[in-house]
Amino acid sequence: MIVRNLQLVRDRITTACFAAGRDPASVRLLAVSKTFGAEAVIDALSDGQRAFGENYIAEGVAKILALRAFQQAQAAQTAQAGTPAAALEWHCIGPVQSNKTRLVAEHFDWVQSVDRLKIAQRLSEQRPPHLPPLQICLQVNVDGGANKSGVAPEEALALAQEIAQLPRLTLRGLMAIPEPATDFVAACALHARTKAIFDQINAAAVLPAPMDTLSMGMTADLEAAIHSGATLVRVGTAIFGAR
Ligand SMILES: *Cc1c(COP(=O)(O)O)cnc(C)c1O
Repeated sequence: MIVRNLQLVRDRITTACFAAGRDPASVRLLAVSKTFGAEAVIDALSDGQRAFGENYIAEGVAKILALRAFQQAQAAQTAQAGTPAAALEWHCIGPVQSNKTRLVAEHFDWVQSVDRLKIAQRLSEQRPPHLPPLQICLQVNVDGGANKSGVAPEEALALAQEIAQLPRLTLRGLMAIPEPATDFVAACALHARTKAIFDQINAAAVLPAPMDTLSMGMTADLEAAIHSGATLVRVGTAIFGAR
């Protein structure tokens, strides 16, 4: 089921790219495996999916460790000592509290949900030296819900500049989770706002390197997100089923 669902999602991405005049290779798929077990991740992995997103830190870390053990057991079984297991890429896409930054810094490859300097500083300080820099997206509160996570659009540039200076982080882009829109046009209008903030920050040319990742679009609105310039879509339900 998961393998068939993955194919359907890849087809949706390809179709949306063609409709938008974009190269399908310009959009990556993040499989959001939250609430599903390690077996679901293994199924998707068997079909070539490498990037996975988790919302809840403890659940995510447990799955990361389970997948590492699975890959080690598999490698031992096939006795192909020289062939390293396919590298998985784990993205934290949920809220990160101060007391969870160490776990995140030690286990994840990306954090897409950074919206405060204090959290970014802790992630940078706690990133183990033997690992590559943690890849970061700023979460932007694009539709301004008062009790929503995300940096306010007018504060995004300043925060991006500060985070880009932290030694153990690499700022890659922006992430947004707008409220569900009623139709395609409305969804595009919301995603276009995030794209505009992304373009403004890059145009300011104050970062060491331009951002290359615009993370927006989920099961319900990935077509609108791709139409609006998303380079990474985060899909859970359409791959793993209803939660
Ligand atoms: C759960 C979640 C998703 C996936 O949503 P679906 O509608 O199941 O595709 C994507 N991004 C974030 C931040 C999420 O929390």
